[in-house]
Amino acid sequence: STMACGSKKDTLVMATNAEFPPYEYLDGSDFKGIDIEIAQAIADDLGKELVIEDMAFDSIITAVQSGKADIGLAGMTAMPDRLENVDFSDSYTTATQVIIVKKGSTITTASDLEGKTLGVQLGTTGDIYADDVKDATVERYNKGFEAVQALSQGKIDAVIIDNEPAKVFVSQSEDIEIVKEEFAVEEYAIAIKKGNEELQKQINKSLEKLKESGELQKIIDKYINE
Ligand code: GLN
Repeated sequence: STMACGSKKDTLVMATNAEFPPYEYLDGSDFKGIDIEIAQAIADDLGKELVIEDMAFDSIITAVQSGKADIGLAGMTAMPDRLENVDFSDSYTTATQVIIVKKGSTITTASDLEGKTLGVQLGTTGDIYADDVKDATVERYNKGFEAVQALSQGKIDAVIIDNEPAKVFVSQSEDIEIVKEEFAVEEYAIAIKKGNEELQKQINKSLEKLKESGELQKIIDKYINE
């Protein structure tokens, strides 16, 4: 009957990886962060109830593809490769990739990464960039924070990760720092099931409203103070 699927229709299921502050993280058992608030604002605009599914970053695209989630919102870069599996909304913010090293490291620029042991979060753009570094050994971790811990412990020479999570992780540890030179600019967007043009249109419309009203910037400023 139509009643049976009534409740399902009213939810907006978001797949994320809540280990990526300030975009998504757990505060006790509460989900917090920029992406969480954007998703909530979109759900409100669409008259749906937001449901958050926390999973490994490299499971998010599969979850969207299979319909387990309606959207993937996880500081996800709108990479052309990923368009084979999902569609993306318009960009909602810009980010960069940075290198984290131990204080006093000889690595001061991206070209110094050659031949080094690099830590990344599995399946991220940092993983892709590390893979391209000549003669480098790439260690892949499930969480960005685990890569940063390995760096602190001297197990690896550098971490390649998004700039804002990098700032958060570096602020929690005395012995590491971010290399000044940023080496890639990326657009974050919302992943949507391929071919679901209706949802894509709705989400882009909601995003546009959030941009025009200044609400999006307000959400970002709440978590990122330059
Ligand atoms: N922006 C990076 C990517 O899309 C990392 C995202 C993440 O780790 N949550 O791969």
